[in-house]
Amino acid sequence: MRVVVVGAGVIGLSTALCIHQRYHSDLQPLDMKVYADRFTPHTTTDVAAGLIQPYVSPPDDPREMDWNQQTFDYLLSQIHSPSADKMGLALISGYNLFREAVPDPVWKDLVLGFRKLTPRELDMFPDYGYGWFNTSLILDGKTYLKWLTERLTERGVQFFLRKVASLEEVARGGVDVIINCTGVWAGALQPDPLLQPGRGQVIRVEAPWMKHFIITHDPERGIYKTPYIIPGMRDSSVWVLASGLRAPRSG
Ligand SMILES: Cc1cc2nc3c(=O)[nH]c(=O)nc-3n(C[C@H](O)[C@H](O)[C@H](O)COP(=O)(O)OP(=O)(O)OC[C@H]3O[C@@H](n4cnc5c(N)ncnc54)[C@H](O)[C@@H]3O)c2cc1C
Repeated sequence: MRVVVVGAGVIGLSTALCIHQRYHSDLQPLDMKVYADRFTPHTTTDVAAGLIQPYVSPPDDPREMDWNQQTFDYLLSQIHSPSADKMGLALISGYNLFREAVPDPVWKDLVLGFRKLTPRELDMFPDYGYGWFNTSLILDGKTYLKWLTERLTERGVQFFLRKVASLEEVARGGVDVIINCTGVWAGALQPDPLLQPGRGQVIRVEAPWMKHFIITHDPERGIYKTPYIIPGMRDSSVWVLASGLRAPRSG
């Protein structure tokens, strides 16, 4: 079986590893290649803060909850393993803040220790009247890509620096399965009007005193239109969303 994964961000490399782990003994030989025009440290994944928190609004596709749960449970199962440091994986706690009371999110039992903020906690955030506290996971993109690359290399997966012009072009090379993991560029290979890029202005600042994430919300304005702060996993910097622009969810 010849499999090509197009894209070497977190989606491409984790997909490649999942498929290899699951099928390499059944599909022999399993010939897997990764094609990408950018590898770590030049992908979007490399600049992500890596906080794992699903969107506050319920997913359009109910399967998303299952995918989120499986991802969270898999990563949580690794948290005390010797690999956690090399994966860039850690527990992190923090706040979600709202001006007014909102329903609990569908992911409240997916994360750890979800609860509503107490009046004393809310006193720390005078502009907000309601909020949640929970523990989640942070997965440093750059570190995780390095770890995934090592695992795939051990398994004999080959990497090619190559810009793919079309999926047909890859198919003509004699491939049984092609997986499109090209992130925000995916629509160039397989147009999907429901997939829309978002844009925001995220800055990284040195702030070693920040130990918790703080995500503010304005349900009427939509996600990522209000500031957030996410502490970095590897150093004392934090990611700050100063302002955000994002196309409305479609569908
Ligand atoms: C500043 C910032 C902070 C973020 N913080 C978080 C966070 O805290 N938590 C979170 O969950 N998400 C966060 N995100 C979002 C997260 O980074 C992305 O959702 C994720 O990295 C997407 O991974 P991906 O593998 O789909 O895409 P990418 O990492 O963009 O990888 C796409 C791959 O496809 C390749 N490719 C594309 N087109 C072609 C082509 N035609 N031919 C060959 N190769 C191609 C690229 O070279 C690349 O290798 C953040 C994003 C940004 C920008």
